Amino acid sequence: MADRRVGSRGRVRLEVWKFGGASLADAQAVRHAIALIRAHRGPLVVVVSALAGVTDALLDGARRAVAGDREAASTAAASFLRRHRDLAHALVPAGAARNRLLASADAQAREYREIAHAMSALADLSDRASDTLVARGERAASAVVAPALHAAGRRAERVDAAEIVVTDGHHGSAAPDLAATRRNARRLLLPLLKRGVTPVVPGFIGAGPDGTVTTLGRGGSDLTATLLGRSLGAARVVLWKDVAGILTADPRAVPDARLLPQMHHREAAEVAYFGAKVLHPRALIPLDGSGISLYVRSFVHPERPGTEVSTRRTLAAYPVKALATIRGQALVTVAGKGLMGVPGIAARTFAAVHAEGVSVSTIFQSSSESSIGFTLPDAESARAVAALEKAFREEIGRGLVDGVSARRGVAVIAVVGRGMAGTPGVAARVFSALASSRINVIAIAQGSSELNISFVVEEGAAAEAARRVHSAFQLSKIGGGRPPERRTDVVLLGFGRVGRALATMAAASGEGRIRIVAALDRSGYVFDPRGVSRSRLQRLAEGKDRGDLLAGLGGRKASASEALQWIAAHAVSRPVLVDVTAEETGDLLAAALGQGFDLVLANKKPLAGPEASYRRLLEAAAAAGRRVRYEATVGAGLPVIDTFRKLVESGDRVMRVEGCVSGTLGFVLSSLERGRPFSEAVREAVQKGYAEPDPRDDLSGQDVVRKGLILARLLGYAGPAPLAENLVTPALRRLPLGTFLERLSSLDEGWRRRVEGEAARGRVLRYVVVATARAVRASLRAVPRDSAFGSLQGTRNLLSFTTRRYRTEPLVVSGPGAGAEVTAAGILNDIRSLASD
Ligand code: ADP
Ligand code: ASP
Ligand code: MG
Repeated sequence: MADRRVGSRGRVRLEVWKFGGASLADAQAVRHAIALIRAHRGPLVVVVSALAGVTDALLDGARRAVAGDREAASTAAASFLRRHRDLAHALVPAGAARNRLLASADAQAREYREIAHAMSALADLSDRASDTLVARGERAASAVVAPALHAAGRRAERVDAAEIVVTDGHHGSAAPDLAATRRNARRLLLPLLKRGVTPVVPGFIGAGPDGTVTTLGRGGSDLTATLLGRSLGAARVVLWKDVAGILTADPRAVPDARLLPQMHHREAAEVAYFGAKVLHPRALIPLDGSGISLYVRSFVHPERPGTEVSTRRTLAAYPVKALATIRGQALVTVAGKGLMGVPGIAARTFAAVHAEGVSVSTIFQSSSESSIGFTLPDAESARAVAALEKAFREEIGRGLVDGVSARRGVAVIAVVGRGMAGTPGVAARVFSALASSRINVIAIAQGSSELNISFVVEEGAAAEAARRVHSAFQLSKIGGGRPPERRTDVVLLGFGRVGRALATMAAASGEGRIRIVAALDRSGYVFDPRGVSRSRLQRLAEGKDRGDLLAGLGGRKASASEALQWIAAHAVSRPVLVDVTAEETGDLLAAALGQGFDLVLANKKPLAGPEASYRRLLEAAAAAGRRVRYEATVGAGLPVIDTFRKLVESGDRVMRVEGCVSGTLGFVLSSLERGRPFSEAVREAVQKGYAEPDPRDDLSGQDVVRKGLILARLLGYAGPAPLAENLVTPALRRLPLGTFLERLSSLDEGWRRRVEGEAARGRVLRYVVVATARAVRASLRAVPRDSAFGSLQGTRNLLSFTTRRYRTEPLVVSGPGAGAEVTAAGILNDIRSLASD
């Protein structure tokens, strides 16, 4: 493709570069800017802002002086002088140029102080005086940059913007006259460019019809750059800023905001108009219809491309691209049931506010048809209300208009994207995202442009509303600005021993791509979309060990389903819900699938309940296009289900799975062979944490039969939940746990005799589960001591797969099958397999 910077005659075409305040913070920053300019081949016009913070400081000093604090102006003047002197010394060699610069900075500072003091005497700061005071920020910055650039070896000359930019004279936020500006720009700048000189122009300022300096409004240097770009027919305009480019939202409110690699002119114009500070609200106007591309680039990372604002159509997959928020607004409403009968109501409303010189940001429709509303800056609301009351005095008197009111402290949020017009349901998505977090929408903008939907909320709710809408449209997934590796965000349902072991293991594995973003327990949840830090997880684990619940450990109180809803609404990446509870969580899991979670289960219950619930869960996953993994439900970290799947994938058929799958029962039974009393062995299993808190859950065979059922279902078993042989005698089943443990020794003698009897025949007792497509059996069996099952010791598990290929000699998987650590390892493997797919 041809390089658009190269003109038809092979000449490199002009670019206009603007350096924002942050890019001119100090000598080091200016040196960096100069290096960028020097490295550029081809003609360039450089527009400079005031040094970082200077505009604010000049305004602040003047305002405080007017409010009676004359000293404030002197302080501002002194600091202005010091900063520019320092720069001059650092960047401009000693000599005539530097002396001129120092003298000029001195004069500027003195003049500032004098004007501010005069204003102080008048106790009034007019927009005109304010413009005169702040204009020196850009003027002084350009006065340093030009000779510094020259000294660094690139021929440069400063040209004052008041000679070029012609405005309507509206102090404080003047509008430029495009045609007149174009004439001046060409007359003054083209000859310099032709001679190979780089013009350095102060941004932000121009001159009104009477010749006085006017500013273009805060952030106006952006507009200066586009104005000059259009006037001179530049190939591109580049704005160097302290951000990576234009982001999907203000990064200060939406931490997940992402870099937009490309945006259409009209989208960028909309975002700018709705208050995204990254661009002056009117910066795109000069480029309209020109085909000139604008680039917003990172001053810190010049090697990165930033954002291209052009008329290309890309990112078509995103109907909504960005959000912008205007804060500090008031919603003014003219209301009345008789309003429809008042002729020209809208026209008269806006004529009245226009006459006040107040600029309306957005026009809103209320839910009923009986009002007309608009937003404007808070500070101007009183004036607007007074003007409207006057304009409608007669209608108010006749009861046609109920009144005019202002609701202050609101914000307008605009949802912007060119693809919105052709995509149904965008508005519904916006408002359901807000409704689900109970954010009250005060008003909705009429679709004046198909490029945006805007709405009004209380200012306090604005950031949250922006985050909600941002995640509803998955804007954090927009390309660019994010690491190439896709993250997998883990939500722990349950924060018991296994959950904690998993948290530690995931953190220690150093896999940045798998992060724990939330943990839930029955009290509530903790959530951090950037990942819960290792130290916080550690603190939570310690708290849980002391018996506290998450809601009391800095978490939020909520039910699990509320928590999941909240988390799902945030910009989580490829979320995985890990169920480490021992509860009936089927409904919750089904809901989570619908919210976009993949599932990893260590909890057997949802898979080992009624056949219908099992099927429902798997069907819900299929319907939602989500995946379910549950390796840790059988044999903890052992690759049991994985082995099954691999056999099937390789074309084999598994006919029977048989195994010792209870760590507790294995531990107890193998202890008996060494002469330990049954009661002691059970107590030790509890102490060591192998057994469930109530060991009867293990001794009853319930846990084993659940595992058997999970395996059998893999083989195609669709029958009822099987019964297991219960090792707890009926008399002990209903006792309180304490009494049960006390009476346990009554069983010792029976077990001793039984074990001895089998030993005499070379056999030992094992609790074995058999799963086939037709049946599941879990029972105590006497097996030869030297068989595979007979030689198992402690908590080890062993499973044998009889398949078509492994018919005479089954395939065996064996290893530690209980404990929080190995279970967590199994879970982590499942998460990894989801993450790498
Ligand atoms: P300059 O240095 O050119 O004057 P600004 O400071 O005016 O640059 O603009 C950049 C700032 O705008 C950023 O620091 C950021 O906090 C803010 N900002 C607000 N919304 C956005 C957005 N959507 N994308 C990028 N930055 C934004
Ligand atoms: N210095 C001005 C401001 O801070 C203009 C600009 O930076 O673009 O608003
Ligand atoms: Mg700016």
